[in-house]
Amino acid sequence: MKRRDLLRYLSVAPLGAGLTVSGMPVLAEEKESALKKDYIKELGLRSFINAAGTYTAMTASLMYPEVMEAINAVSKSYIMLDEVQDKVGERIAQICKAEAATVTAGCWSAMVLGMAGVLTGTDPKKIAALPRLDGMKSEVIVQKSHNSGYVHALTNTGVRIIEIETREELENAIGESTAMLWFLNAHANLGKLTHQEWVAAGKNHAIPVMIDIAADVPPVENLWRFNEMGFDLVCISGGKALRGPQSAGILMGRKDLIKAARMSAPPRGGTIGRGMKVNKEEIVGMLAALEKYISMDHDKEWTSWMNQVEHISAVAKKRAGVHTEIVVPPLANHTPTLQIQWEQEQLKLKPADLQLALRNGSPSIEVLSNEKGISLTVFMLRDGEYKMVAKRILEELNKSA
Ligand SMILES: *Cc1c(COP(=O)(O)O)cnc(C)c1O
Repeated sequence: MKRRDLLRYLSVAPLGAGLTVSGMPVLAEEKESALKKDYIKELGLRSFINAAGTYTAMTASLMYPEVMEAINAVSKSYIMLDEVQDKVGERIAQICKAEAATVTAGCWSAMVLGMAGVLTGTDPKKIAALPRLDGMKSEVIVQKSHNSGYVHALTNTGVRIIEIETREELENAIGESTAMLWFLNAHANLGKLTHQEWVAAGKNHAIPVMIDIAADVPPVENLWRFNEMGFDLVCISGGKALRGPQSAGILMGRKDLIKAARMSAPPRGGTIGRGMKVNKEEIVGMLAALEKYISMDHDKEWTSWMNQVEHISAVAKKRAGVHTEIVVPPLANHTPTLQIQWEQEQLKLKPADLQLALRNGSPSIEVLSNEKGISLTVFMLRDGEYKMVAKRILEELNKSA
């Protein structure tokens, strides 16, 4: 590392991070401007090591330098918003084996716009009418166990949610007013109906089927799996594990529906989606993130995550009374997750207090806590940070009792 770069790194690294040159994090910032102004410092903001995961409140993920390069490059020219959406959409569709795609302001906005497209088609009167459903269908069917807060993205357009549990209930619920069937991949294991059954029901009744896979890469195959399975619309976050712009996402699927969805999106005004603007930088940044993601060695990345988690586990267990477990959530944030638990009587330490001590320590570290202990992931860490996480956890565990 050049001296200039090292200084730049040290100026943004949390106090006392003590990382070596080889532990230099991946920073997505423009080279020349980095030294000029340090807003984090200037504004007195707390930056931290993110061992919690891709949480919106924690600004979720860091963009790769390739993404920032794309953003910077495109920021220097005017282009037509629709033209960049057309071209980027084609490339994304090709990568994800979809008929068509468009960049949205996050997975949430993908759901609003996709829903709008289903309801309105390309009818200007209907597009202008939303969220009043004059002459439109008005119901979306979801499995009871999938009926999470995320359906609010759909109800924004004026539709009502109809809950069902069994296949029979689904058949009975489908009628004249049914606009769409919605599936939440994160809860796929909680419902009675499988992906395939959901898609088949949609096909049988000629009703579009949408799936929310917001946090469902890795595995990389999920980028095309649901398009190939026959979902008419697939919605994914751009700023979670894909590490694109935090306020970007992708809506992909049937060509006619993507076209209709875009009728409610900027640059068109007088629409329900006018506030869901994605700028050219985010559009191209989203593509750059996707290209970066599919080109990565995912097996190697997985091995590296496992090694890091195992290191933290081994260090934490140096404290007597501490036990750990590595779990991999099957759906959503499918990444090695370390749970650290301890005999609370013996250590006289509450999980929430350990979480707070790590947050207030130097460097500041974010983890999750529950009644039994703390849990953490390493997929959002910058290079080398896992060692600091391990060290700090052991220090705090050793302080107790
Ligand atoms: C994060 C998330 C969303 C919202 O995604 P954004 O990209 O933040 O708009 C929607 N659904 C699920 C299941 C999510 O996890």
